[in-house]
Amino acid sequence: MDLREKAACIRLILMDVDGTLTDGTLTVLPDGEELKSYHVRDGMGILMAQLVGIETGIITGKTSGALEKRASRLKMKHLYQGILDKGAVLQKILSDTGLSSENVAYIGDDLGDLSVIKSVGLSAAVADAHALVKKHSHMICSLRGGAGAVREFIEFILEVQGYHWESIERKFLSLERSKTFNP
Ligand SMILES: [Mg+2]
Repeated sequence: MDLREKAACIRLILMDVDGTLTDGTLTVLPDGEELKSYHVRDGMGILMAQLVGIETGIITGKTSGALEKRASRLKMKHLYQGILDKGAVLQKILSDTGLSSENVAYIGDDLGDLSVIKSVGLSAAVADAHALVKKHSHMICSLRGGAGAVREFIEFILEVQGYHWESIERKFLSLERSKTFNP
């Protein structure tokens, strides 16, 4: 299967956080809390995917209350934090959802993502990912982690599946009116 055939099968998009949804920077405050920055266009992409019926989820090694709020605001279906074995979580998600690995996409940046990257139907590395992650991913984004790579990956999948902004916009506008859309 080529890249577009793989993308056509995707029903669930999973992603890493640090270095993927963020640029990897952690600002550690005196009380030990960590500040991270997310890109609003990634948030918009996640909402766009859900508008057309593609679910999204996060598998991350770290734990953050702020991430819980962001995932909730973006209405993400799956959130797994503090995960060492991401491959095991993927198997649990497949079992819970009844999806096959061909229906799942994943984007990551570092070695902890490899077990998932090697197992899903479509995988992507951010532009500044570890060399091994790039080697094993089906595609490499032109954008870096925290700089729109997740949006780039989602838009590729949506475009292959025939969803262009014009077709998503009507749903977007109706949701915007009800103030439920906050990327
Ligand atoms: Mg990472």
